[in-house]
Amino acid sequence: MKKPQPTSAPTIVWFRQDLRLADNPALYSACDSGEVLPVYILDDDNAGEWAIGGASRWWLHHALVDLNSSLDGRLHLYRGNPLEILNTLIQTHNSTDVVWNRCYEPWRIKRDAEIKTQLRKQGVDVKSFNASLLWEPWDILKKDGTPYKVYTPYYRRGCLSHVGPREPLQIPESLGMIELSADSLTLEQLELLPSINWDIQLRERWRISETAANERLDEFILSELNDYRDGRNFPNKANVSRLSPYLHFGQISPNTAWHRAINAGGVVTDEKSLDTFLSELGWREFSYYLLFHFPHLPRVNLQQRFNSFPWAIDKEYHLSAWKKGLTGYPLVDAGMRELYSTGYMHNRVRMVVGSFLVKNLLIHWHKGEEWFWDCLVDADLASNSASWQWIAGCGADAAPFFRIFNPITQSEKFDGAGDYIRRYVPELAKLSSKHIHAPWLAPTDVLSAAGVSVGTNYPAPIIDIKESRVIALEAFSATKTQALKDPNL
Ligand SMILES: Cc1cc2nc3c(=O)[nH]c(=O)nc-3n(C[C@H](O)[C@H](O)[C@H](O)COP(=O)(O)OP(=O)(O)OC[C@H]3O[C@@H](n4cnc5c(N)ncnc54)[C@H](O)[C@@H]3O)c2cc1C
Repeated sequence: MKKPQPTSAPTIVWFRQDLRLADNPALYSACDSGEVLPVYILDDDNAGEWAIGGASRWWLHHALVDLNSSLDGRLHLYRGNPLEILNTLIQTHNSTDVVWNRCYEPWRIKRDAEIKTQLRKQGVDVKSFNASLLWEPWDILKKDGTPYKVYTPYYRRGCLSHVGPREPLQIPESLGMIELSADSLTLEQLELLPSINWDIQLRERWRISETAANERLDEFILSELNDYRDGRNFPNKANVSRLSPYLHFGQISPNTAWHRAINAGGVVTDEKSLDTFLSELGWREFSYYLLFHFPHLPRVNLQQRFNSFPWAIDKEYHLSAWKKGLTGYPLVDAGMRELYSTGYMHNRVRMVVGSFLVKNLLIHWHKGEEWFWDCLVDADLASNSASWQWIAGCGADAAPFFRIFNPITQSEKFDGAGDYIRRYVPELAKLSSKHIHAPWLAPTDVLSAAGVSVGTNYPAPIIDIKESRVIALEAFSATKTQALKDPNL
C-alpha cells in the first residue's frame, strides 16, 4: 500500500457497524489519501423504536473501548444528529472528504441518503463501501428482476453463481490520525453501560475485541468446524462459532470468516460441515436481503393472512414466565435463562423458545422480537426480524405454521443427557437424564431425592403442550378461511 501523502485536511471516517481495522474498506481508502479523523456517533433519535437494546449497548461500549485503543485513543465520540455533527467536524477541520461503510437497516438507509445528498450539495466528497455483506442485496435478483423470497434458490442460484465474495483487505499500513478534539465525548458520557450491575455474567462470558473475534474464528475452524453440520444442533456442544455479536458489530467481517474457512487447507476435512457453515453465513445475507427488499420486515407479516391471526392479548403472566425462564418446560427455561445471563442463546433453543411463545402461548411474535432485541448481544434488526417471521410461520420462506416444536422431544433429542438444562436451571441439576426433560411426570420419590418440588421450587408447566397445539392449529386454519373470504388480507 502507498504511504499516505499528508494533506491539509483529514478525511472523516465515520465508523458504524464496522468496529475494526482489518478488512475495513472505508478506513483503507481514507488512509490511502492522507490523515484521518475517526468518529463514532451514537444516534438513538433516528433509530426510533430500534434504538440499540440493553445488552447490545453493553457490547458496544466494550467494542468502542477496543477500537479506540487500536486507534491510539483518537476515536472521536459524539451523541446526537449525525448530519449536524459531521457538518461541525467538516467546518472545524476543513475536511472535504467523508467515508463510511454501508448499513442496511431502513432507518439508516434513509438517514444516510439524506446526509449524502446534503454533504454533496456543500461540495463534500462522500463515499460509501460494502464492509458487512458478501453480496449486495440489489445485485442478486431473479431473471425477471424481482427479489428472491425463498432461501435455497437465493443462495444457491443467486449468490453462489454470482461473483464470489471479495478477499478481505489488510489493516492499513499507516494510520495517520489527527489529535483528539476537545469536544469529543468520553465513552462514559455515552452512558452505554447499565446503571445496575446485571452484566457480571456477561463480563465473564465474553472477550470483546477485534483480536478476540479473530481468535474465536481461528479456534472454531481448527477445533469445531469439522463437526459443525451435526454438532450445531446440540446446545451443550461447542460446535457453533458464537461469532454473531462480532459479526453484528463488525469486529470481524463475513468476508474474513468466509475466506478463512474455505482456505483452511487440510484443517477442514468435512466438506459438508464447511458447506453448512458457509450456508449459515448465507442465512445472515438472506436476512439482510429480505430487510432491504421488504423494509417493513421488522413489523409487518410478510404473509398477510397472518394479519388476522387471533393472538392472545391479555397473557402478561405467560409472557413474564417466558421471559424469566419459569414456564415449567426445562429446555425453554434453560434457553431463556441463558439469554438473560449471557446475552446469547443457541440457535436450536432460539427456535424452541420462539415456537413455544408464538405457537403454544399464542403470543404475538413482536413480543419475542422485542425481548430478544433488548437481551441479545447479537441483536440484529435483519436476523432477528427474519428469524421471528420464520418461526411464526408468517415470513417469506418460513417454517410452516403447523411445524410446532415440541419442547420435550426437542429436549430429549438435542440435550439428551440434560447437561444444558443443568447448567442454566440448577434447581433441576440432580434429576436424571430420564426425568429432567419433563419433571412433572417424574415419580414423587425421584423428585424428592433430587430436591425438586414441582410448583414450589420449579414451576409446573404453565400450559398443556398438546391442548395448546390443537388450539394453535385451529387458530391458524381460521386465518386461512378469512384469507379466502377477504382478498385484501
Ligand atoms: C427467534 C430467533 C431470533 C434470532 N435473532 C438473531 C439476532 O438478533 N441476531 C443474529 O445474529 N442472529 C439471530 N438469530 C439467528 C441465529 O440463531 C444466530 O445467528 C446464531 O445462533 C448465532 O450463533 P453462532 O454465531 O454460534 O452461529 P453459527 O452457527 O456459528 O453461524 C455462523 C454465523 O452465521 C449467521 N447465522 C447462523 N444462523 C443464522 C440464522 N438462522 N439467521 C441468520 N444468520 C445466521 C450468524 O451471523 C452466525 O454468527 C435468531 C434466530 C432465531 C430462531
